[in-house]
Amino acid sequence: MADSYDFDLFTIGIGSGGTRASRVAAAHGAKVAAAEEFRVGGTCVIRGCVPKKMLVYGAHFAEDLEDARQFGWDIGECTFDWVRLRDHVLSDVTRLEGLHTETLENHQVTIFKERATITGDHEITLESGKVVTAKYILVATGARPFVPEFSGSEHVITSNEAFHLDAVPERILIAGGGYIANEFAGIFNQFGSKVTIVNRSDVILRGYDPALRDRLLQISLTKGIEFCFNCSFEWIEKQEDGTLLVKLTGHEPRVFDQVMIATGRVPNTEGLGLETVGVELGAKGEIIVDAFSRSSVDYIYAVGDVTDRVQLTPVAIREGQAFADSVFGKGEPYAVDHSCIPSAVFSHPPIASVGMTEGEARNKLGAVRVYQSDFRPMKHVVAGRNERGLYKMIVDAANDKVVGIHMIAPEAPEILQGAAIAVKAGLTKADFDATMAIHPTMAEELVLMK
Ligand code: NDP
Repeated sequence: MADSYDFDLFTIGIGSGGTRASRVAAAHGAKVAAAEEFRVGGTCVIRGCVPKKMLVYGAHFAEDLEDARQFGWDIGECTFDWVRLRDHVLSDVTRLEGLHTETLENHQVTIFKERATITGDHEITLESGKVVTAKYILVATGARPFVPEFSGSEHVITSNEAFHLDAVPERILIAGGGYIANEFAGIFNQFGSKVTIVNRSDVILRGYDPALRDRLLQISLTKGIEFCFNCSFEWIEKQEDGTLLVKLTGHEPRVFDQVMIATGRVPNTEGLGLETVGVELGAKGEIIVDAFSRSSVDYIYAVGDVTDRVQLTPVAIREGQAFADSVFGKGEPYAVDHSCIPSAVFSHPPIASVGMTEGEARNKLGAVRVYQSDFRPMKHVVAGRNERGLYKMIVDAANDKVVGIHMIAPEAPEILQGAAIAVKAGLTKADFDATMAIHPTMAEELVLMK
């Protein structure tokens, strides 16, 4: 296709969305180049979902080893070696980065490992000074942690740095009450840190069903995680011994070994030359796109976190796929369906959710039926662990359709993925009831709710 352009597609940012879009466009016959200033793979692979999940697995051994005794296993004194886990995780990340690069190269995608800027119509200039042209440009530059400004904020870390720490902090303060704060609170707590979460409101995981949020809060408190609600940072001072003296509003100054900020993520749109060609941005700096991921400039598209639609890897991948199929494929253009997206928080225990919360369903549908199962997993019973799971199912009373499932319990994300198909497909409570249980499992609660 590349007629008068060097490339049919130039992708800026090789994360989840950029990789999928580039690979699929190339498979459709397009001549594709992609630029990445950091590491191929993006947030998810390099410093997000993937290494985080590996740490979650590592953290879980703390309780598993403790529980093993109740199952008859005598295990000698256990010690935890953070550096060993960290280095295994980081080397696997490098392996995955290699696989991503290989996939693109196998599809004849030209990779530029440097920053790219839009410098004119259909024109991209690389950091090395090389200028190339492309018929289409895809911006898939993702997002980065947002760090509020206050005196001493230069001393904090974000999730980016958490994977590279030299040691597990003895005392860590984590700011934010969302995904990252709760996931890392669970991880560090299991590794033996004294964890304190500070949030500007008294809500954790806003958007999730309140019953699940309450349950996580209660379990987290039981595990020794401390919460400071309705407060913010006044200042941080680095002490001579390297520790951080932190002043939060309404609290006496306290000493921590690390302060980690997890207060949302902002789209990476600065310095890309978007203003040069007139790409319209939203209030948070996100690229405004239509249902087909097209920006206000007709040959520039954007997918993933940089558009601030739904900041989740599988969504970015779908958006990248839909863009590539629509622009370079032979079929009709199609848009990604952003409704009913299942999600999970890999907290300790994890949360998984799809569809409407009880409150949303009552507001939107009026009459709803709510089913609940509040249970103690068999494994916890044997282990003597007093930690209960909670499943909640929301049903539209008008047509019996299951419009939401919300779970907090071991393996909830693994279990929910299957149930999410049923919710997306519009199945009814009667369909769930007609399904035979798999016994004994936690998942069987889904078909046994009365
Ligand atoms: P979240 O949006 O999940 O949570 C942000 C938290 O920070 C909230 O508690 C919010 O408070 C607080 N906050 C927001 N703005 C400010 C501010 N200006 N000052 C102080 N506090 C503030 O963000 P995360 O950083 O945890 O994660 C970013 C995104 O990454 C998530 O939204 C998610 O899409 C994605 N992600 C997904 C994961 C998964 O799928 N398992 C894992 C990790 C990240 P309040 O709610 O009180 O307003």
